[in-house]
Amino acid sequence: MSGPSAQCPSCGAEVAFRWSGAVQTTCGYCDSILVRHGTDLERVGKVSEPPPTTSPIQLGTEGRYEGRRFTVVGRIVYGYERGGWSEWHLVFYDGSSGWLSAAMLEYSVSFLVEDAGPIPYEAQITRGLRLRLFGDTYEVTDTTPARYLGTEGELPWEYHDRGDMTFADLKSAGGRVVTLDQSEDPPLVFAGEYVDFDELSLENLREDAGEVLHHEQVRTLNCPRCGSSVEVRQAGMSVNVVCASCASVLDATSPGAKVLQSFEKRAHLEPLIPLGAKG
Ligand SMILES: [Zn+2]
Ligand SMILES: [Zn+2]
Repeated sequence: MSGPSAQCPSCGAEVAFRWSGAVQTTCGYCDSILVRHGTDLERVGKVSEPPPTTSPIQLGTEGRYEGRRFTVVGRIVYGYERGGWSEWHLVFYDGSSGWLSAAMLEYSVSFLVEDAGPIPYEAQITRGLRLRLFGDTYEVTDTTPARYLGTEGELPWEYHDRGDMTFADLKSAGGRVVTLDQSEDPPLVFAGEYVDFDELSLENLREDAGEVLHHEQVRTLNCPRCGSSVEVRQAGMSVNVVCASCASVLDATSPGAKVLQSFEKRAHLEPLIPLGAKG
């Protein structure tokens, strides 16, 4: 599956597309985020750092879903209060596009549904709400406020300047899943199902995957407010950490660990981490 290629407007490197339908890609040499206009590429930003991952999947991973072979060509990474997850962009050999969602070792494959019918306003979508979609009844099981963290590789649309958004997860009695991406109005509707990792028959996985999966990753950063060293467990998954010394809430995903929230009146606070705990 070889697609067209073009020149990176930033560094001049040849940027080859795995998929001819790609609208956005990243330059493998200078990390520019590039958007395609016909045969030209426009630089719209830069990948600040490789999006964190604890997944064995990578660009170029191949697999099989319902007997159809696919290649992983892109990724969007989101953060939420308990960590992060990746939406891997799959391109099937017939040129169609799908998504493999990998969150905390739980995998699902889904497809964008055009013309899904009317969807209630975001404010009306709350846990327990039932919706009739594609001839089936779905119940909202979760709404998840999330934050766009980054992209890599080829995507079917422009996706580089996002902020906060809310996702809604719905399930049918038969085990089908629907995700509403409410960053768009009307929301993007993805329909699919949970999949067993082994049944995807994935090849060309990351070689260090075993290590990533089986050992807890720990790194330390320095609190930019008080200078104490702060341990980040599950590096790459943790989004927010709390400095045990000054109780600042730090963004572990930003370079230099930006302070998200700090507490001036420490003396009046209950300790966030029990004394004696290794923080
Ligand atoms: Zn470049
Ligand atoms: Zn601190």
